[in-house]
Amino acid sequence: MIPLEEARRLVLDACPLLEPGPVPLSEALGCVTAEAVVATEAVPPFANTAMDGYAVRAADTAGATPAAQAPLEPVGPGQAVRIMTGAPLPEGADAVVMVELTREDGAGAVLVTAEVPPGNHIRPAGDDLQAGQEVLPAGTELRPAHLGVLASLGYSQVLVRPRPRVGILSTGDELVEGGEKLRPGQIRDSNRPTLLALLRDSGCDGVDLGRAKDAEGDIEEALERGLDICDAVITSGGVSVGDYDYTKAVLDRLSEGAMHWRQVAIKPAKPLAFGVVRGTPVFGLPGNPVSSMVSFECFARPALRAMAGHHHLHRPEVMAVADDGLPRRPDGKLHLDRVTAEAGADGRFHIRSVGGQGSHQLLATARANALALVPDGPGIPRGGTVRTLLLHV
Ligand code: AMP
Ligand code: MG
Repeated sequence: MIPLEEARRLVLDACPLLEPGPVPLSEALGCVTAEAVVATEAVPPFANTAMDGYAVRAADTAGATPAAQAPLEPVGPGQAVRIMTGAPLPEGADAVVMVELTREDGAGAVLVTAEVPPGNHIRPAGDDLQAGQEVLPAGTELRPAHLGVLASLGYSQVLVRPRPRVGILSTGDELVEGGEKLRPGQIRDSNRPTLLALLRDSGCDGVDLGRAKDAEGDIEEALERGLDICDAVITSGGVSVGDYDYTKAVLDRLSEGAMHWRQVAIKPAKPLAFGVVRGTPVFGLPGNPVSSMVSFECFARPALRAMAGHHHLHRPEVMAVADDGLPRRPDGKLHLDRVTAEAGADGRFHIRSVGGQGSHQLLATARANALALVPDGPGIPRGGTVRTLLLHV
């Protein structure tokens, strides 16, 4: 068995960075910029008012100035121009008095009830960003506000690393899908929908490669299809010791022996098959539903994020308090216990086991929002602390 970190290093070192391409802003959320973005213009493009009120050097000018309309006339001494938030500052004015500090006398005059300094409530041109300024460095993971910044500069697309296209293939003679009546020995394929959803959750485009029987021809045909159209391929099932070795035979042949077949010192998800086949990373995840999820989390997700140019590959990690303890027996492995994590009034995360920790107990896992990394040994006593990965907190 090899430690988790070593197995992950082996995977990360082998995965290629995807080539960048232009993507419309509407599809770029979560993608990583492949070049620095430099502003070609200032935002805001003109000095404008931060408040509804009056642009002044002094008293009243006829006619209001709604936002988005240019002022009709300059403000002279003793005049004021009604002005709405965001409207350009009229020439001649050097301050804005908020409307609450003014009064109209009914005879066309505006009374200003407070003294204001020059520049009052004025947003100068370039107050947000200046022309020529680097607004996003290369390697920025695009969040909503970044897309807004790009839109404010007139961009309709941005150069990013693409979302990895990832094929998902289930293997196993016993698998069926949908609501059909189960014959003896059959089970429904739950891994494929789960893994496709995990991909989506990780900013990837999933490609459904369907189910393959435990037969070399079937597996090879599906894998070839995946290798043709995907940046990475993930299979589940058929990699445990004692399995019919069809997946192994096909992957060893296609990779010309470059596949790694490893036992990782973790529970669940001990078996891991990984290799780069004709430039495309292939992950052979174990078949048990919880194992395939944990294996995805430990290996595929960080690798796919690295391929997409992310710098932060892993989930946020905290030291959490195990309110009920997390007992276990020594077995040479790191246990990734499925737990619920909640921020407590003491400012720390508190975790509780979701119960059933079997690698087939998907419902218990569905209740979890975090993974506690329980080191080899007797486990964590009640109130003890443990490294915890926050999945959906
Ligand atoms: P395997 O790794 O192929 O030996 O599978 C281990 C266990 O996981 C077996 O009980 C399989 O029936 C189950 N399993 C394999 N693939 C799937 C799947 N796609 N959905 C649900 N269970 C699966
Ligand atoms: Mg199987």
